[in-house]
Amino acid sequence: MWATLDQVIDRLKQGRNVCVIGHAKPDGDAISSVAGLVAILERYGIAAAGCIADQLPWYYRSLPGTERISTPDKVRGQSFDTTVIVDSSDLSRIGGAEVLLGGAPPDITLDHHRTNEGFGKLDYCDSGSAATAMIVLEISRAMVPLDEELAQLLLLGIATDTGFFKFANADAEVLARAAELVQQGARLQPIASAVLEHRSLSTLKLLGRLFDTIQVREEGKLAYGWVSEGMLRETGCTDQDTEGFVGEIRALHEVEVAVLFVESPPGEVHVSLRSKSYVDVSEVAAALGGGGHARAAGCSLHVERLQEAVDQVVAAVAQAIRESS
Ligand code: AMP
Ligand code: MN
Ligand code: MN
Repeated sequence: MWATLDQVIDRLKQGRNVCVIGHAKPDGDAISSVAGLVAILERYGIAAAGCIADQLPWYYRSLPGTERISTPDKVRGQSFDTTVIVDSSDLSRIGGAEVLLGGAPPDITLDHHRTNEGFGKLDYCDSGSAATAMIVLEISRAMVPLDEELAQLLLLGIATDTGFFKFANADAEVLARAAELVQQGARLQPIASAVLEHRSLSTLKLLGRLFDTIQVREEGKLAYGWVSEGMLRETGCTDQDTEGFVGEIRALHEVEVAVLFVESPPGEVHVSLRSKSYVDVSEVAAALGGGGHARAAGCSLHVERLQEAVDQVVAAVAQAIRESS
């Protein structure tokens, strides 16, 4: 049921044992929102645990506060009177953490994806928020004083979901909130270093292989490339190492939509869609069973061969470009 943020805050304050869950294959915003909300609840005097189905990519672990997040097997067996799902547009996004709900809907969901249709007892989704961490920051104002550790945790989600303050969602509100966090002692440099400068030599080699696959269609407006299971194996990389690759395709001049296909494990293809200014890729992703935002969306497809996923998605994106130009 859609709720106001005040209703969500009132419900949170009634919790005694809260479990905060983020989406599988976590990004900076999921990590920031889970660890940030757990830190807020702890400071307020409420016991809380953070949980994400997949291991965090290793480079986030250097950021203080992320140790508040564990995997479902670590918190299973604990009893919770309140469950919260953050940064997830539907229940399937939390993957294996669903066991913690015991078949019940989550008590609270907090999100900013425009494709979210609401799936909790109390749902708050503001698609005008650049990051779920912006909503968690709003919650913190109503519950606890902002301190340096909390500010650092929340800056992570705001920085990563705005592409380090360069995407179209990096508006005055984002910059003002980020400035406030920095004033409280948060630092951007360790976040930028962890998230943007962690590539290994094998990851760079994989990126080189991706560049060799790039194809351009629709007079340069559509560019796409893929990372096959074989390419991962041959370079000694995992799908986690492809974070940020789709941005390299979007960097092409004249491109409106960039698409990255990552096959992992065999038979499963994760599709990342990014647009620059006018194509709503969340609609394309939603039609394929995924979701996201107007300028960044994704979906996962089950196919026999990678090429099937490529053909299907490229046709859908090409049509979306023709319809919007
Ligand atoms: P990604 O390309 O994986 O970085 O995802 C870009 C955006 O699309 C993020 O906001 C995700 O939350 C969303 N997204 C990615 N994959 C899915 C999916 N399978 N279902 C729904 N939303 C997704
Ligand atoms: Mn996310
Ligand atoms: Mn987000």
